[in-house]
Amino acid sequence: MNESQTPLFAANWKMFKGPRQTKEFLDSFQSICEPRDDRRIVFFPPSISVEAFLRASSSRPDLEVGVQDVHQEVEGAHTGALSAQMAAEAGATWALAGHSERRREFGDDDAIVAEKTSRILEAGLKPIVCIGETLEEREAGRLAAVLDRQVRTVLSAVPAERLTWAYEPVWAIGTGRTASPADAAEAHGIVRAAIEAGAGSGMAEVAVILYGGSVKPNNIGELMAAPGVNGVLVGGASLDPEAFAAICEVSLTPG
Ligand code: PGA
Repeated sequence: MNESQTPLFAANWKMFKGPRQTKEFLDSFQSICEPRDDRRIVFFPPSISVEAFLRASSSRPDLEVGVQDVHQEVEGAHTGALSAQMAAEAGATWALAGHSERRREFGDDDAIVAEKTSRILEAGLKPIVCIGETLEEREAGRLAAVLDRQVRTVLSAVPAERLTWAYEPVWAIGTGRTASPADAAEAHGIVRAAIEAGAGSGMAEVAVILYGGSVKPNNIGELMAAPGVNGVLVGGASLDPEAFAAICEVSLTPG
């Protein structure tokens, strides 16, 4: 493991928690989850709650914050949208790109995800690029082809060294169905191979690849022990301070 592969625990709150609930969460979470230097924790609240997050966590610089999406353009007539630059100005330091809910509900295809990732980097934010296959694609034997296409489209637009990836099988998101550690290890191996093909073996070795999809306190240990898993992106279980603290405090096997 190199330094950039320090295990990363990310919370995707989706469309939950306005400013008031953000503060309530943090008051509780900070009292049960102490800062530690062997792991990193990043929250993705709704963008309207970023400021409340920063205020409520001002004594905890170890808790980082990002936005769940940005527009692929720098600015313009796009009602309701948010630019990467605005997110940075508001104090966010990370941004998600390509979450499967954005791909499904808002039509973010691979090319748009690549553009969004470029905007995120230009604004000085750290992107987490989300990729993953649907159940239909998996059952049709297209796991490797889909992941390869998703990874390589992004790598054709931005430098690999500035990316964090999140492998999230769509069939495991919010369903209670988790990929087995072996499934996760296999998919992470495919993602690493796609990075190697697009950016070379050095980049593939140091790439940070998170797993996401129904991560819970009771499966975090086995998932973090799976080869090639450098952290997790947690939806449902990150909404509860105790559950997310339990996830962030999992004991890690060295290596
Ligand atoms: P989940 O969501 O943990 O609720 O499955 C994960 C995600 O969508 O990032």
